[in-house]
Amino acid sequence: MNARPENLPRRQAAPETQSDFLAALVDALEEQVSVIDEDGRIIYVNAAWQRFGEENGIPPGADWLGSNYLETCRQARGDRIAQRVARSVEHMLSAPPGSSVTVEYPCHSPTAQRWFLMRATRMTTGEGRFVVIVHENITRRKQAEQRVAALALHDPLTGLPNRRAFNQELSRAWSRCRRSHSPLSLLSIDVDHFKKINDTFGHPAGDACLKSVARIIRRHARRPGDLAARVGGEEFFLLLPDTEVGMAHHIAGHLHQAISHQGGAKGVPHATLTASIGLVGVIPRHDLRPEVLLTAADVALYAAKREGRNRIMLGVA
Ligand code: GH3
Ligand code: MG
Ligand code: MG
Repeated sequence: MNARPENLPRRQAAPETQSDFLAALVDALEEQVSVIDEDGRIIYVNAAWQRFGEENGIPPGADWLGSNYLETCRQARGDRIAQRVARSVEHMLSAPPGSSVTVEYPCHSPTAQRWFLMRATRMTTGEGRFVVIVHENITRRKQAEQRVAALALHDPLTGLPNRRAFNQELSRAWSRCRRSHSPLSLLSIDVDHFKKINDTFGHPAGDACLKSVARIIRRHARRPGDLAARVGGEEFFLLLPDTEVGMAHHIAGHLHQAISHQGGAKGVPHATLTASIGLVGVIPRHDLRPEVLLTAADVALYAAKREGRNRIMLGVA
């Protein structure tokens, strides 16, 4: 094992004899590092910074020193991220030494999705004011976050959005329809006597039935803003923005029929599977909350069950 170079300072600025070592150290970093002065001019870049530039179309051997980082960001008009980076770096120039700020941003190339983290730190040593800028590729972390977010918003059995995703979309759709004075309709769909289906045909057959119901409901979410979601064991919602209740009733009729004609699974006789549907439509207003839609659809669904199941009931919000 190599010995630690003698007299290597742990924290202090390196004397002449150690500068090569420190330069090699910064060049060994994967992160792209630069230092800018108080006018935004680049006074240092490491090897990773140089390499990244070359990989992204800057001619090999280009001299970064003297070019103005802040000006380049400011001139990228219309690029909100560049403006945010410029503001953050400017802010650091007048912040106390040791302060830092980070900005995460996408930087996709035609062939790959990439994200970076920019960290600007006010330098604590040196004469005058300097900011160290570090760009780090955080694509792997971002992709992992996206996978976790997708898992958190989807039901693993059917692949449909779950209740959390539904709630998020409901408040977005509610606001959109309120602004445009458009109707928003909701179908609350519950499979009838599903416990009996499980008890009679087994849980795996029950699962297969739920998947088939999910496929049918998804097929009825035809427009881009429509959302089919699984919100409970055998309970589903179909949210239909910009849809009058009359049209929603028509869709509910189709859906109801499709479930009893096409829903089911191997070993489960045809027409065993039926559903009750509570339907409600409203034009969202400031004095109403999105929850009124859920409550009214629930009341209508309960009425459909009480009246004998396998039917559609219209509710009032
Ligand atoms: P109702 O007509 O009144 O809706 O009766 P129901 O039997 O459908 O309703 P209940 O709420 O009594 O039972 C729902 C059943 O759904 C009970 C539960 O075991 C079953 N269930 C919930 N989630 C799943 C699942 O993921 N897979 C399967 N196979 N069954 C499930
Ligand atoms: Mg139920
Ligand atoms: Mg049920």
